[in-house]
Amino acid sequence: LPAEFEEAKEVLGAIQQAGFEAYFVGGSVRDTILGLKIHDVDIATSAYPAEVKKIFKKTIDTGIEHGTVTVLDHNRAYEITTFRTESTYQDFRRPDHVKFVRSLREDLKRRDLTINALAMKPDGEIIDLFDGLNDLKEGNIRAVGVAEERFHEDALRMMRAVRFASQLDFTIEKNTLDAIKHNAHLLQNVAVERIHVEWAKLLLGTNPKTGLENFLATTLYYYCPLFKDKEEVFRKILRLRGSVQLSSEASAWTLICYLSSLTSTAVKKMLRAWKSSNELVDSVVIATEIVSLIERRKLDTWSYYKGGLHCIKFANEVASILGFGINHTTLEENYAALPIKNKHELKINGGVLISQLKIKPGPQLGKILEKIEYKVVMGEIENQPTALLKAVSSWIEAE
Ligand code: ATP
Ligand code: MG
Repeated sequence: LPAEFEEAKEVLGAIQQAGFEAYFVGGSVRDTILGLKIHDVDIATSAYPAEVKKIFKKTIDTGIEHGTVTVLDHNRAYEITTFRTESTYQDFRRPDHVKFVRSLREDLKRRDLTINALAMKPDGEIIDLFDGLNDLKEGNIRAVGVAEERFHEDALRMMRAVRFASQLDFTIEKNTLDAIKHNAHLLQNVAVERIHVEWAKLLLGTNPKTGLENFLATTLYYYCPLFKDKEEVFRKILRLRGSVQLSSEASAWTLICYLSSLTSTAVKKMLRAWKSSNELVDSVVIATEIVSLIERRKLDTWSYYKGGLHCIKFANEVASILGFGINHTTLEENYAALPIKNKHELKINGGVLISQLKIKPGPQLGKILEKIEYKVVMGEIENQPTALLKAVSSWIEAE
């Protein structure tokens, strides 16, 4: 067993000692069987939250209303969730109530896909009630139980099916695929933030083309924010040569926005509609512009400076995917050669200009500082106090 499980064994042991069942469940079990790296270890138990809290000294009520208690053990945190069923679903969203139960079968039954419905005992024995092992072996994405019903309960599961197809390069089994086609419109009822999480994982999967193909074939895309008219853009991505391997969500959005020929304002609107962080919005706006500069061979010193290495790099990743990327080393060297990387490195500031050259604070001062910044970046003036003061005096005299 991977080290993460070995470390967590004691926690499961303590729950069993107290007379309850405890299993590893969810993504970590799936990924271990596939030989993939695991991130977080989820534990499911027959003990109710209050019972879990009695067993351990240090616990946090992370999501106690959903049955999740975090246990702190040897400086590690484990999420322990009571077996539960999700009975009352409203409007195709998540359930508003969960019911705690003592049966593992009930808990596994409410999970989305067979490959996500496996449980593992502390000794590594797998409990496979829905043929998940076979689906893992065959590379199938299949809903647990009746697919139609499961997507009615929670429409996000359709996005999850498509995202796992991309992440694992699996095939969505016919019955499940048909049920997604049927119910795609229900995605409109799901919170954008939840769709966004799955969409980002789809884009960064091992085979995003598989994910996108399913995204189109099922028409799920049609029910995502501002994607109604984006079919052709996604088809363009499908036609790109090779497997489209993206390193970050920002690169993925940059590719989409660039291929959609969106203006900066439209890029902002798109990413905001997806409830993206300001950081993501800003990066994608800049990177989309940089891709077009790279394509037109107009990426000059000033663009390197304004873009910053981070944005330039993933813009170039996108440019490379599109077949017009620049050499990576050239890019790093050009950036390294910039006289300054940001304006705080200027060897002069507003205060000095005010005291030495008697310039009044205000718009004129701002303009002068911008001009200095530009000239220094472009290598037209040396970034050195006397040289800078001399340049500014000459500009003032010339006016
Ligand atoms: P990842 O590796 O991306 O975290 P995961 O399978 O662990 O994948 P999570 O979102 O962390 O995904 O969910 C943990 C588990 O909870 C899943 O494996 C699945 O069993 C169950 N699950 C998650 N979301 C749903 C859902 N919408 N409907 C039913 N079961 C779900
Ligand atoms: Mg997980």
